Amino acid sequence: MSPFGTRSAARAARMWHEVADKVFVRRFLDFNVNVGLVVGDNATLVIDTRGSDRQGRELASEIRWITHGKLVVANTHHHYDHAFGNSAFLPAEIWGHEQCAARLRSDSRTTQYALAAAMPEFAAEYTDAHITPPNKTFRDSVSLELGGRKVELTHYGRGHTDNDIVAVVPDVHVVFAGDLVEQGAPPSFEDSYPMDWPGTMGRILDVALGPVIPGHGEVVGRSFVEGQLADLSALAQLARRVRFDGGSADDAMPLSPFPARVARVALTRAFAQLAGEL
Ligand SMILES: [Zn+2]
Repeated sequence: MSPFGTRSAARAARMWHEVADKVFVRRFLDFNVNVGLVVGDNATLVIDTRGSDRQGRELASEIRWITHGKLVVANTHHHYDHAFGNSAFLPAEIWGHEQCAARLRSDSRTTQYALAAAMPEFAAEYTDAHITPPNKTFRDSVSLELGGRKVELTHYGRGHTDNDIVAVVPDVHVVFAGDLVEQGAPPSFEDSYPMDWPGTMGRILDVALGPVIPGHGEVVGRSFVEGQLADLSALAQLARRVRFDGGSADDAMPLSPFPARVARVALTRAFAQLAGEL
């Protein structure tokens, strides 16, 4: 009998896109977010868990159409759409940067109320989420052995947040970049370190030898990362130059490579960094 018992299960299984041998990506309508699966002989790594208990449970059940084996989780960073579904995977190991765990502890309540206010029809779903910070944390890098293959989790530096990690599957040259790379929308700068982001992105470029899975949007490749790195570098250089000339974030706005509403946040963060306030 097919492992896919019903028609709907088969349809859902097709939503998992196999980007390399036993490496899958599933893009969800909620927040256009990507979830990754790296299947090994002994365990499967789940990269990000979506935005609530319900979304996490739905994800966990969809993973069962791919594998019935042991699951291990990694969060690319602390943002709700990547980590608020963690509780559905307990008692699994949940890996993340130490600052990812700290930020989930300190910031989540505020985020939950903000989500509830923004989406009143789903308020309970977001306020009731059982925030579950990573129970396995690291600062620089860790190698996970899944059986027959490994995955390297590395913090290349600050960028989209202070706790972004990148998951590299070396045997197939797949890179899960989290929100350090964003497709389908400009990068998100609310918690960012725009002066550090280009250097961090450069380290992604060093390992971008195959498919690169952004936190949101379509799977991309090296040339897309190069393009986003060019924009991020231009923004950082612009901030530095305008500040050197005595100007403000507002003065730099019209020259930004990003749309105005994005540029405002990015340049405000960049100037704060240059002033030593971040
Ligand atoms: Zn994010």
